[in-house]
Amino acid sequence: MNHVYLDNAATTPIDPRVVSDMHAASVEYYGNPSSLHRTGRMARDVIEKARVQLANLIGGNPDEIYFTSSGTEAANLALAGVAETCIGTNKQGGCHFIASSFEHPAVFETCQALKRRGVEVSFLPVNATGLVDPSDLSRAIRPDTRLVSVMAANNVVGTLQPIAELGRITRDRGVLFHTDAVQAVGKIPFHLKTQPIDLLSLSGHKFNGPKGVGALFVRKGVKLTPLLHGGGQEQGLRPSTENITGILGLGRAAEIAKQEMTSEVSRLVDLRDRIIDSVTASIPNAYLIGDRYLRLPGHLCFGFQGQEGEAIRVLLALDEHGIAVSSGSACSSHHTGGPSSVLMAMGMNPIQARGSLRISLGRFNTDTDVDYFLNILPKVVSQLRRISTNLSSSTKGHL
Ligand code: PLP
Repeated sequence: MNHVYLDNAATTPIDPRVVSDMHAASVEYYGNPSSLHRTGRMARDVIEKARVQLANLIGGNPDEIYFTSSGTEAANLALAGVAETCIGTNKQGGCHFIASSFEHPAVFETCQALKRRGVEVSFLPVNATGLVDPSDLSRAIRPDTRLVSVMAANNVVGTLQPIAELGRITRDRGVLFHTDAVQAVGKIPFHLKTQPIDLLSLSGHKFNGPKGVGALFVRKGVKLTPLLHGGGQEQGLRPSTENITGILGLGRAAEIAKQEMTSEVSRLVDLRDRIIDSVTASIPNAYLIGDRYLRLPGHLCFGFQGQEGEAIRVLLALDEHGIAVSSGSACSSHHTGGPSSVLMAMGMNPIQARGSLRISLGRFNTDTDVDYFLNILPKVVSQLRRISTNLSSSTKGHL
């Protein structure tokens, strides 16, 4: 049976070149990087090489990279690490955060937890195409605002935020700017030496690296309080014995992503645009969710006007044909199983927000995969249309 994996926003297959390096390293580099002997120093060198590789990918300095166990941990460290510097110790100054209203749970739930600890959080609206308006940010910043957090690319709809502009507004007001770039790093270029970003979270498994390893970029001079307390690793900001093999894999994945970025972006944009044109032409009530152009190279999200309830059935039927895609609600409902909070934030009603189909392309997808998907999808939806008993007469014949 065919196996076509189009769910690269959920996670990516690890690149065989990364696996092979990790395999060799897991035997060779068993030393504790904090040990002074040669075995320890060899392990330390592995970590420092990965730090350079990652810094090269995002255009930062190696000593501004802190390895973590995931993107989630990096975002928690960024937000809670800033909050700790203003909760309690500096009550007079206040502690106000701003985030977009469709952040991933890694940021959204951290904001909720911080609210319970006394941080005030304001959420910025996003428009119907999934973009934050910079003028909303300007208006939302207050004298007691300490941090603004807006994701670089949304995980459900794939839209790219005007990060440079949001960062500039934030910096001009003397406030720290964090971006959850978990979906964006490795897929679009970053230039942190010049971009006004103070904190950036990333994750290895989203760009063909290993799972369970991520990093936080912390611009020099930015003060964070650690979440963990221990042996002082990662300059005391993220103590615990390092995941050497994972970090090596993350570094290698970063190196490959950098080398192949230009060709990969244009290849994925071509495949993505072919899918948009074909799906909207062959399924009349299918519409693209999120901005047509300001989106990740390989990321698509479709709704089906009038037949939103069908999306999950389309997903399951595609799965039977060996095609893996995702439903918008499954990956963004903040665990309620209800409508997608991301799509609701974009102004969709709860019915519309239940039914979206996310297709996310990656490094190992080919033209043949896209041909197969574009051949199967219309058949699947027309088959479902025939068996569906819930279609309204006004939309019959269109799914
Ligand atoms: N932020 C975004 C935008 C994501 O898409 C994800 C993962 O889906 C995360 C954070 C969490 O990353 P991790 O799985 O490494 O914890």
